[in-house]
Amino acid sequence: MTLDALLKQAAQRLQAAGSSSPRIDAEVLLCHVLGRDRTWLYTWGDKICSLWEQARFDALIAARSQGTPVAYLTGEREFWGLRLATSPDTLIPRPDTETLVELALKRATLPSGRLLDLGTGTGAIALAFASEQPHWQVVGVDLRFEAVALATRNARSLGISNARFLQSDWFAALETCADADKQFDIIVSNPPYIAADDPHLAEGDVRFEPRSALVANACGMADLLHLVNSAQRYLAASGWLLLEHGYKQAEMVREALERAGYKNVESARDLGGHERVTLG
Ligand code: GLN
Repeated sequence: MTLDALLKQAAQRLQAAGSSSPRIDAEVLLCHVLGRDRTWLYTWGDKICSLWEQARFDALIAARSQGTPVAYLTGEREFWGLRLATSPDTLIPRPDTETLVELALKRATLPSGRLLDLGTGTGAIALAFASEQPHWQVVGVDLRFEAVALATRNARSLGISNARFLQSDWFAALETCADADKQFDIIVSNPPYIAADDPHLAEGDVRFEPRSALVANACGMADLLHLVNSAQRYLAASGWLLLEHGYKQAEMVREALERAGYKNVESARDLGGHERVTLG
């Protein structure tokens, strides 16, 4: 069978299984098996792949039909133009989160400074920021050791040397650091913010992602409120806190920041037009 025919058949199978992007999923998975990019695939669609490659592709399409996220099948996802390794131990980086990176970069007005990323997962936000601001020191923390190991591996394979990663329950590990190491010019986080009973949790990729990275108590607000109330001790006087949140949570986060004494509080919209990040 030619690559084109193989793709067509796989896309039909994924569509029947309910994928919202069947053709792209099939192309990305075939590229992964062949070790080629999509431009190559478009040029050489009349080629025939080996039986071994076809068998591997079939197995991936079968797993995708069961709902397994493409990023877990290929083990990678692009974020901010960086190729990041992913694993079921971490959330899959989302394009919406690039809004947070953009805003943090706009607030980074000094040539050098320190940024802290709480709940770093793959290291996506920390590494995107560090790659754009090579004179800033970036620290990413995560509760899960597996995430810290993955983020460290991502930094190494991307050749990013100004980001390091620590295992920590939010700010806890910073307590043992010297005072100068506890102060940050920018603190960012994409914490868990989905309510446990949100029907969104039963659809698509989130079904396979770690619950601890998605779900928070108090209708999804518990971690956001904890971060608002505990970040000030670690922020420089004119520092910024930037938080990603659900699209119905912006007003609550703004109120919490204002109540805690933050100034210049505002929210920004993601690519889908939803208020996704609030800062102060
Ligand atoms: N934005 C993600 C989603 O709705 C959730 C990310 C998070 O909980 N931090 O799928």
